[in-house]
Amino acid sequence: MRPLSRKVADIAPSATIEISDRAGQMRAAGIDVIGLSIGEPDFPTPAHITRACIDALERGETHYAPSPGIPALREAIARKLETENNVPCTPGQVIVACGAKDSIYEAMEAVLNPGDEVVIIDPSWVSYEPCVQLAGGTPVHCGVRETDFQVDDSFLEAITPKTKMIICNSPSNPSGAVMNDASLRLIADAAVDNDCYVLSDEIYEKLIYTKTHVSIGSYDGMADRTITVNGFSKAYAMTGWRIGYAAAPEPVAKQMIKVQQHTISHPATFAMHGAVAALTGDQQCVCDMRCEFDTRRQYLIGALHEMGYETAPAEGAFYAYVKTGGDDMAVSARWLAEANVAVTPGTAFGTPGWVRLSYAASLGRLKEAMQRIAALSD
Ligand code: PMP
Repeated sequence: MRPLSRKVADIAPSATIEISDRAGQMRAAGIDVIGLSIGEPDFPTPAHITRACIDALERGETHYAPSPGIPALREAIARKLETENNVPCTPGQVIVACGAKDSIYEAMEAVLNPGDEVVIIDPSWVSYEPCVQLAGGTPVHCGVRETDFQVDDSFLEAITPKTKMIICNSPSNPSGAVMNDASLRLIADAAVDNDCYVLSDEIYEKLIYTKTHVSIGSYDGMADRTITVNGFSKAYAMTGWRIGYAAAPEPVAKQMIKVQQHTISHPATFAMHGAVAALTGDQQCVCDMRCEFDTRRQYLIGALHEMGYETAPAEGAFYAYVKTGGDDMAVSARWLAEANVAVTPGTAFGTPGWVRLSYAASLGRLKEAMQRIAALSD
């Protein structure tokens, strides 16, 4: 047979797959594995959102919709960005896609040409680099300060005349850190000075415990160079609905809509009606879930510190990022094999020597996991 796509073949398989495959095999063999490697809320989607989707199905909202999304949802998103995030946005700049992941990929397809560089700040979410590569760009990695997980002037060394885009993810998956004003300003200034786009992935916006969320698109000079990405998966426990969105400067939005028209068309029509209810309905469900995550966060971070581990500042998302030192792949393999606790090695996020524990698991299971890890001999 003739060789397949080199672009796809060159993308590295996820470092998380080995551990999650092994966890799956252990579960199938009847072993009680505690899964702390997952990136999705363990709550059901709030009932009023599900109801709105069922109503839409029953009304017959089962046909094609406009490619960038149903008008009610684009309008609700634009209003949310303007009022909550201080990001100037019209409904025409909003593209509703199949999850934030799809929005990120479409944004890269819309912006990048071969040879264009995209700066990724590590530790970084696993799909940024493959999305850049699939879209023909070149990923360039830089790091954060290990003391507070903020960017400092060393970030500027990653910027070259070829830099076309900088990815900003606050709160961060995997570290849970929330960027402060100095970090956001540094990135915004670099984008303005070097005429770059910023892709701001704000999917964990609603899960912040110690700070308030600030959108980089609200900074001076950023409105016409920021692609703000967000979605419903984390804030509303809607991972399976596959609804996310981007708000982009008009020329970028036009390109993204073309990509969407010729690929996914749009997310499921009835699911978009559920998303309207999520944004326009009572937000108490978001507060309740955040409150529960916060209780777990405080327990988990406290327990890890008592065990002598250093952690990244757990300010947002639902992850504890734990410094293990040494070979994180070996540490996660051992925790899985000997404590039957599945975690994600930091190598998957570009930072070996760390592991990520998700606290999207019940307090009881988190306590059990900590007891099992503490019981391992050195
Ligand atoms: N960005 C980050 C940082 C994420 O952690 C995730 C989900 N794990 C996504 C984007 C994708 O979310 P969605 O389900 O909306 O595609």
